[in-house]
Amino acid sequence: MEYKGRRQSSNVEDARGRKMAGAAIPIGLIIRVVTNMFGAKGLMFLAAAGIIAWQVGLFDPATLIGGGTQVTEVEFEASPEEERLVEFVAVTLADTEDVWSREFQRLGRQYQAPTLVLFRQQTPTGCGVGDARMGPFYCPADRKVYIDLSFYDSLEQEFSAPGDFAQAYVIAHEVGHHVQNLLGISDQVAARRGQSDFNEYSVRLELQADFLAGLWAHHNQRYLQQGDIEEAMQAANQIGDDAIQSRTQGRITPHAFTHGTSEQRMRWFNRGLESGRIEDGDTFEVPYSNL
Ligand SMILES: [Zn+2]
Repeated sequence: MEYKGRRQSSNVEDARGRKMAGAAIPIGLIIRVVTNMFGAKGLMFLAAAGIIAWQVGLFDPATLIGGGTQVTEVEFEASPEEERLVEFVAVTLADTEDVWSREFQRLGRQYQAPTLVLFRQQTPTGCGVGDARMGPFYCPADRKVYIDLSFYDSLEQEFSAPGDFAQAYVIAHEVGHHVQNLLGISDQVAARRGQSDFNEYSVRLELQADFLAGLWAHHNQRYLQQGDIEEAMQAANQIGDDAIQSRTQGRITPHAFTHGTSEQRMRWFNRGLESGRIEDGDTFEVPYSNL
């Protein structure tokens, strides 16, 4: 895909220097010890000291909540190759903004672009702790796409899906989940959680995200180069949450348990690529056996 010198999205949040540490403060123990040693006055002194420490920035009360996960900013190094990837990702995200703004306009709606967060290893998200081992994911609660760029190495090496357009397809798929969120489709599926047909609905949701990625590629054809579509198809063939999640012990489930078969994924991507119209991607209307 041609990307050099093209518009980069301003909705990229670079959190690669964000480090999470499980620095839990055993507040219950501290209160007990202080009360035993110094009584209620000691406890009041502790509370006052805590408030002062918070006010001057020595201590974040958030560390007392949620198991005490602390986030700090650290210096990080990035190779020139990684910086090239950041540029590529920002251009791809800008492309999705252009395509979806136009498509929403056609539907008489306004597109609200998602934020794309670059992180390393772990990151706090609106959906719990995001872990790089889960692969890229979209969190509907904070409307952000999360990606650790090292996933692209796995895509090439472990999933045998090399090429920049395979990388673009991954982002377009996650942005597809954002589109589904804006259109209220994700909520309808989430509401079925716990019901016997929930897995079917999540497969429909995932295949539609592939369709939406294909739709994006349709409107982006002028930037495509020889072999790009094959790269995306190869990626669609190789990746799925089942494959990715089997390697993980992460704490959140970014999206469904299954994405459908490789054949289905390639077919729905292709359908989006050929059609370019959101109306042709209603994976919820098709009988499940014909999906
Ligand atoms: Zn997905």
